[in-house]
Amino acid sequence: MIWDLLRDFALTEAMDQHRWRHDSSGVFTSKSAYRQFFQGSTTFEPWCRVWKSWAPPKCKTFLWLAIKDKCWTMDKLSKRGLPHRDKCVLCDQEEETIQHILVGCVFAREFWYKLLSAFGLQQLPPDNDEDYFAHW
Ligand SMILES: [Zn+2]
Repeated sequence: MIWDLLRDFALTEAMDQHRWRHDSSGVFTSKSAYRQFFQGSTTFEPWCRVWKSWAPPKCKTFLWLAIKDKCWTMDKLSKRGLPHRDKCVLCDQEEETIQHILVGCVFAREFWYKLLSAFGLQQLPPDNDEDYFAHW
């Protein structure tokens, strides 16, 4: 009850003070307000590598959409009741998602292996258990 909370509280003659609780000094600053605005938010690390790369804008846009899982793959078509195939058009083994197309499909892994081998980076293709492009 509120009475229980206030029973031991004593009023004084001192003036009330405004105190900004989001800064240790108790004083409002726009910096502390801005910092508070993003309290609890999460950061998305790949954005910097995508948008600050030398790739053409359409490639950056595609990568951004792929990372955000916003490409029109069969899983998205299925969710909206649009016509689609049931399996990946390349391997015909698994559901087609953007993550499958980019890193999960055996054809994708073969593509990455051949591409990276041309630069001596053949140890970097996605592993068999890699299932998220942004993590790779
Ligand atoms: Zn596939």
